[in-house]
Amino acid sequence: MPKNSTIKIALLLLGAIILGALLREAMFKVAAKKTTTSYVPALQINGDIKNPLTLLDEAEFDSVDFEYKGERKRGIPLASIIQSTEPITEKHEILFIGEDGLSALIDGSNLDGCHILLSENGWEAINLLHPVSSNVKRLKEIIIIAPDAPLNFGVNIISQTENLAYFTPGQLYKETGVQMPYFEGTSTVTNDGGQNSVSIFTRRQLYPLRDLVDFSEAEQFVVMGAKGETLYTSDPGFLQVNKNFLNYFSLDRENEIIENVKGFMIAPPSRSITDLYHDTLHYLQRDEKVLLLFLDGFGYHQYEYAKENGYIPFLSTLPQAEKALSVYQPVTNAGFAAMITGKTPDENGVYSRDQMDLKTPSIFAMAKQLGKESALIEGHIKILNTEIEPVLNIDLNGDGKNEDEIYSTALEYVKDANYDLIMVHFHSIDDAGHSYGDLHENTMEQLKVVDGYVRDLVEAWKGKVIILADHGMHSTEDAGNHGEFRYEDLIVPYIIAEGGRIE
Ligand SMILES: [Zn+2]
Ligand SMILES: [Zn+2]
Repeated sequence: MPKNSTIKIALLLLGAIILGALLREAMFKVAAKKTTTSYVPALQINGDIKNPLTLLDEAEFDSVDFEYKGERKRGIPLASIIQSTEPITEKHEILFIGEDGLSALIDGSNLDGCHILLSENGWEAINLLHPVSSNVKRLKEIIIIAPDAPLNFGVNIISQTENLAYFTPGQLYKETGVQMPYFEGTSTVTNDGGQNSVSIFTRRQLYPLRDLVDFSEAEQFVVMGAKGETLYTSDPGFLQVNKNFLNYFSLDRENEIIENVKGFMIAPPSRSITDLYHDTLHYLQRDEKVLLLFLDGFGYHQYEYAKENGYIPFLSTLPQAEKALSVYQPVTNAGFAAMITGKTPDENGVYSRDQMDLKTPSIFAMAKQLGKESALIEGHIKILNTEIEPVLNIDLNGDGKNEDEIYSTALEYVKDANYDLIMVHFHSIDDAGHSYGDLHENTMEQLKVVDGYVRDLVEAWKGKVIILADHGMHSTEDAGNHGEFRYEDLIVPYIIAEGGRIE
């Protein structure tokens, strides 16, 4: 290295050190100046929004001048703060909460004249065009409340046959909660005089589920989180707001928390779609062959409706379907993975449409270990990366569907004595449900077609048959959909039958 540049670097370094020292001094002065004024707490903006915000300084937004009671003031337009948090719905309410608990609720549709500023009163809301009582001093939190947010955003409280209640984080702020001391831990110091211990508690705002919904007779509950966490409990517990999502909180179960809780089902069915793995394994171990008929998007309420109205003549001859609980999120990837791994999404790693890889072995790996031959008959795309390659089916005869090709392929495999385990994935009930709705006549007619396929396969099979679905389907304004924590999506039929022709 030439000597010149070494000197240059040394000078630069010296410069940087001096500059750093000066900056530090300047920052110290600023900090010192701040501490001589009053302590300003952070302003939290939470609720039914995508981006929760903690405001520490007015400089984070552009301020404007305005007149208030003959005085000139400067503040941030509330609309620009709200906009940056991305409210979940266009229509919303805004709740101002002061340090003393005083709250004011305004409609969020017109925020003209609403300002947030930092004054000797801490954070302050001044709303020029709203009633004067909406002006809150020593403002602690601003909550955005969406009256009709999509169900996936909040927490749903349901039974096997009814969607009972729904709360978003914002909506819960309007309910009465309880302040609960929460034990965080103990720390101990040892010194000459011996040991001194301190126990740390924080206070949490909790909402007892018993206060939100009436379910006096129920003794068992299941709680599900966004990642598919599934907790069976006899303690209804509490909801806790955390910025823009809700946690489930149980005091009985050593303060167990499910983060971002999606739903709470009262008196869930004893069966789960994860039983498929265990039942299949049980039969294979006893050297019985198993045929699994996976009817995508076939909810229990659709089964009942179809049975009553004569759309499933064959399924109606089989033993009455039991109710089985799907998983969150009730979509194909997650439901399929739960069925074949016997594990809930938090354990098998597939909790939405975005995951394909299984973290735990599927029934196909277990079958292989037992020396059994298995096959997975699929539509035209692979949904999960399983230990065996699926047999894919495209629309060969050009009738616009591949369900008939799936059926023909399945029938060949079923008649081939070499297979011990065959899983067939039919998807046309789901397709029709999305296009027309869960109980639409066209969906029911498609169900009737699949019922015929099922009959032929069951009659040709020598062994056990399990028929079930990954998730159900609910009505939307224009057709049908699934993926929400609601009974139509989460309760599916589960049928165990014997193969062969019924004489
Ligand atoms: Zn599906
Ligand atoms: Zn679907």
